[in-house]
Amino acid sequence: MSHPSQQSACTTCGACCASFRVDLSVYELSSMGGTVPDGLTVELNGSTCRMRGTDHVPVRCAALTGTVGQQVTCAIYEWRPNPCREFSAGDYACDKARARHGLPPLSA
Ligand code: SF4
Ligand code: SF4
Repeated sequence: MSHPSQQSACTTCGACCASFRVDLSVYELSSMGGTVPDGLTVELNGSTCRMRGTDHVPVRCAALTGTVGQQVTCAIYEWRPNPCREFSAGDYACDKARARHGLPPLSA
């Protein structure tokens, strides 16, 4: 999730941005002094919201542009929420997301 544009493996992947729910604190919203554009999120409750597009199947974050497994970019890369920043390329969840999209694990 962090990743399109961070590492070369990610710019040709984007699988995590099209696999998981991405929930964030409302305090990450631009309207609350954070960085994430409100319009790209849906509210879950008073304290949490979710990246739009990750709240239904097929999952695909509204901020993701391009084609998964080919060329992708996060349209709000510099303003992406914490869960995206904390996601690590090459770990278990990354491999799981890639597998869902028919991509080999990075470690392979
Ligand atoms: S905000 Fe960007 S990095 Fe996070 S899931 Fe969406 S496209 Fe991926
Ligand atoms: S699934 Fe892994 S390789 Fe693909 S964009 Fe996410 S972190 Fe990067």
